[in-house]
Amino acid sequence: MAIERTFSIIKPDATARNLTGAVNAIIEKAGLKIVAQKRILMTRAQAETFYAVHKARPFFGELVDFMISGPVVVQVLEGEGAILKYRDVMGATDPSKAADGTIRKAHAKSIGENSVHGSDAAETATIEIAQFFAGNEIVG
Ligand code: UDP
Repeated sequence: MAIERTFSIIKPDATARNLTGAVNAIIEKAGLKIVAQKRILMTRAQAETFYAVHKARPFFGELVDFMISGPVVVQVLEGEGAILKYRDVMGATDPSKAADGTIRKAHAKSIGENSVHGSDAAETATIEIAQFFAGNEIVG
């Protein structure tokens, strides 16, 4: 399997509960390497662009409000099959359906405030990484 990079966000519900380290421990234990990381407050424009694919969904406004409600930690994760691996490590969107051992099972509060984001495919990973990181900020 190829070495890939994926984009991750530790969402405001997790930073508010001081869970950055706990989430990162799960990420690293799964064999994913954190090759870029910064804590930021997203602007509304950044959040709307990031979740533009969900613009028509009923939860869009609420989702954008949540994503700018507090600090987030944006990350680039690297490893073998990193995109699918991180989706597995995150667990299902709805934490009540997430498997044991996943970040969302352990920490998510609800289907909206679900602690983490991870890219769903190689194309989106490339776009999402470029939205938040310059090439020289990523150190593998
Ligand atoms: N979301 C929500 N309500 C829903 C579905 C999704 O608030 O009914 C939010 C949630 O924060 C989720 C994000 O929108 O993580 C993106 O949804 P997606 O279906 O892409 O889930 P993910 O890829 O994050 O598991």
